[in-house]
Amino acid sequence: MKKWEVNIRRVVPYVPGEQPKGEKILKLNTNENPYPPAPGVRRALQEMDYGRFRKYPDPAAEELVNCLADYHHVERNRVFVGVGSDDVLAMAFLSFFNSEKPLLFPDVSYSFYKVWAELFGIPYEAVPLDETFRIRPRDYDRENGGVIFPNPNAPTGLLLGLEQVEDMVRHNQDSVVIVDEAYIDFGGRSALELLGRYENLLVVRTFSKARSMAGMRIGFAIGSRELIRALHDVKYSFNSYTMNMPSLALGAESVKDEAYFRKTIGKIVDTREKAKKRFGSLGFSFPDSMANFILVKHEKVPAEELFEALQKEGIYVRYFKQPRLENYLRITIGTDEEMERLFAFLEDYLKEHGAVQAW
Ligand SMILES: *Cc1c(COP(=O)(O)O)cnc(C)c1O
Repeated sequence: MKKWEVNIRRVVPYVPGEQPKGEKILKLNTNENPYPPAPGVRRALQEMDYGRFRKYPDPAAEELVNCLADYHHVERNRVFVGVGSDDVLAMAFLSFFNSEKPLLFPDVSYSFYKVWAELFGIPYEAVPLDETFRIRPRDYDRENGGVIFPNPNAPTGLLLGLEQVEDMVRHNQDSVVIVDEAYIDFGGRSALELLGRYENLLVVRTFSKARSMAGMRIGFAIGSRELIRALHDVKYSFNSYTMNMPSLALGAESVKDEAYFRKTIGKIVDTREKAKKRFGSLGFSFPDSMANFILVKHEKVPAEELFEALQKEGIYVRYFKQPRLENYLRITIGTDEEMERLFAFLEDYLKEHGAVQAW
């Protein structure tokens, strides 16, 4: 090893889902929204003055911050925005988890939490979900340097009721508790309601899933003034201009169209509920997802085998080769037509392999 190599930081990075290219590919592997962003976003994009790109964007991201503050009925100094919620979460890890005590998060959860903890040298403990993949709030009643969990959880899709979320925040008032609400719009009640009562609570959201804007990279957090101020201090110690001009403008545009937002979410929820029935009839079992994906397991065919067969067919889903998930596939909810293509293939495949009744 060369001398300078000794000083290179070694990290095990997060592995994002593949972004395959090709005409016939059906992409159900990264929980993107199958519908386009709101029509106003397209209009704003077309009317955008490219001459503005000469200048730096607004470091305070006021256009978007104000818009989100109004939408969520909170003061402007309680909103923080970033380059996707991954950026917001990374800043939050840096800002809030500086204890010697371990950060707690579920063992089956968003795998980036562990990566940030390792990167920033934060001690952590993965708290096992129960046998049915549920979070047990009581498991978090112990000394910790912070708590973070997604609600609904990913990749299980299981939602924790607001009472249980509050229960966890109430029992952890000496630490910052982050609720990662990437999927809350698909059927859950948000912890934003609790913000008035708990200054140690941070709710993190993204435009990537329900708002169909993963490519724009927009995420935000809402919390007490103290938490938001701390996030800003860390951000300005790192990169003042995190968000680019188009993202700020187009994100604000998306928030203005509530009707379109509700309509596309409604369609996805509808497709999800139909998909549950279909998966069930094909012999799959799954936690009852309240997100835009379903974590399925087939009683007779191993997940890895199905994963490979699907991929050969140009259908991409997510397979996590990790403890407790080896036999599951996480499948994003697409349009009705896309799901039909998936189910048609699964049905044929399972029949051919004698894993489902032929009728
Ligand atoms: C998708 C996702 C994120 C990250 O979303 P961004 O695209 O970075 O906004 C964060 N947390 C969970 C649980 C997610 O599924």
